[in-house]
This record gives sequence, C-alpha cells and structure tokens, in this order.
Amino acid sequence: MHEFIVGQEYVRQRLLDFVGSRQMQSGVLWGSKESGCLICTSGGRGGKKAGYSDELLTDGSWWYFGQGMAGDQSLLNAANAKLSSGKLSVLFFTTREPTAREVAARGGYGKLFAFRGDFNVVGFEQFVPSDGNRKGDRLWRFRLVPVGGGDDHWVGDEHTNADSHVDLQDLQRSIYVDSPGSEVGVSLQEYRRRSAAVHLYATLRANGRCEGCGMLAPFVRPDGRAFLEVHHMTRLADDGPDLPANVAALCPNCHRRAHYSIDRIEFGCALRAHVAFLEERIATGQGLK
Ligand SMILES: [Zn+2]
Repeated sequence: MHEFIVGQEYVRQRLLDFVGSRQMQSGVLWGSKESGCLICTSGGRGGKKAGYSDELLTDGSWWYFGQGMAGDQSLLNAANAKLSSGKLSVLFFTTREPTAREVAARGGYGKLFAFRGDFNVVGFEQFVPSDGNRKGDRLWRFRLVPVGGGDDHWVGDEHTNADSHVDLQDLQRSIYVDSPGSEVGVSLQEYRRRSAAVHLYATLRANGRCEGCGMLAPFVRPDGRAFLEVHHMTRLADDGPDLPANVAALCPNCHRRAHYSIDRIEFGCALRAHVAFLEERIATGQGLK
C-alpha cells in the first residue's frame, strides 16, 4: 500500500523513507519497511551516449535496464537479483533535473522523481549495445508491466460473457494451479491472460458489492457487470503477483481510500483479513453466503 500519485513528483528522500532505505546513489531502492516492493528509478544513465536507455513501449510496459555501471552486468548484483526474482512489485519513477527556478525555490539541487505506477517484472533478457560507451557490454533489461494494466485496461471485453455461473472454487483452483510463485519467464500474453483471470475472479467474488465497504457498486457497465476496481494489496516477498488473496474488488471511493487515506494502513489490514476469510470459505467449498 502506498500513497504515490501517478504523474506527481517526489524528492528522493520520500522514496527512501517509504521503503526504509538509506541507499544514496542506487537507481533501485529497497528496504525493510516495504519488503515486498522495489523502487526503480529511470534516468540519469547517459541515455543515447551509453548506447542504451530505458524505454516506454506502446502497450504501457517498460524495458528497464539492470544495475552495473561498467562491463557486463550480473544477475548476482543485489538489485538485478531482486528484479529477476519476479517476486517483488515495482514502484516505477522517472527522473529529471530540477530547473534553476526550482533549485532556488527549494534551496537544493536534488533530482525530482515522477511516479509512473505499479509494475510487475514479467521477464528479462540480455541486451548488447552496438554503439555508445557501453558497446559490447552484456547488459540485462527487465520487462516491467503495469499491475492490472491500470485497473481495468486488460479485463475489458474478452470477459463480457462472464456470468455468475462460473464456479468460484474451480476458478480459484485453476488460478493457483496456473501460477508458479514467480511470473518471470512467462510470455507477456500469458501474464496478461492470468492477470485478466484474477481480475475476473475478484469481481465475481465481490458479487456486485465493494469488498471494502460492502455497498453496491456505484453503477453497472454496458455489459451488465457491476463496476468495481481491482485493487492489489501489497504483496509479501514470497507471494507471486496477481493471486486471488492479493486482490480486492473495490468501489472507487474505497480504492482511493486504500491508497490515499490517513487510515490506509488499518484499512488495508482489514481488507486483507476480509479477503483471506472469503478465500478460505471459497477454498473449502463453503461459498460466500
Ligand atoms: Zn467501497
């Protein structure tokens, strides 16, 4: 659970405080306060001059380059090892230098970090720049895919025929069987298929009511399904991303509350407990009533 707002800029100290880290230089930050997540910052690597740079793709995913300033990069490097594990969610930020006016106003030169959203690492590959000052070095780049594709992006039309006849227990089982602890190495298509299945599952489990406040969804979609947003609760380091126990279907108010409210920690704990209770009932065939 975090309160970063997409598009808003933050100073580095905010990022360090969030994860509980004192790493001053590194592009990838982690700490004991949020052990299920990594902060990845993009920028400041010299871009074209180095022969490679992080890249936003048209589908909203990123190629994010590993750490290692010279020579071949290693997956044994602490940051690269964490990225390649696929077990941590990524809060992704892009970096910029402050303008002269901002430096004057803030009294400091610190870079600014714009939040780009929550991501999962779904794969990685080697990349060898053909020019620039890293020419010939074997680098690693990681594919970062938006969690849930922005809540709704991927769920869309392929499930418009979904109805209440789907057996939740069967669906729950199939999702767990389908998901080895880590998502790394699966194709993007496969990742999205699973992600869509979990979204569908969460909205069916909610059965038209917000899993946060219990109120009816605020409106109905054109296809007849209730409108609820799928919220990803912070994952534990040893849980795979996008599993039924990690998501809650929420009304827009509760979804915002989970991220931005003063009681978001308590709200998140209550939500997690409620979802765990529902999951247990479904797993043991007791149903939701
Ligand atoms: Zn609600």
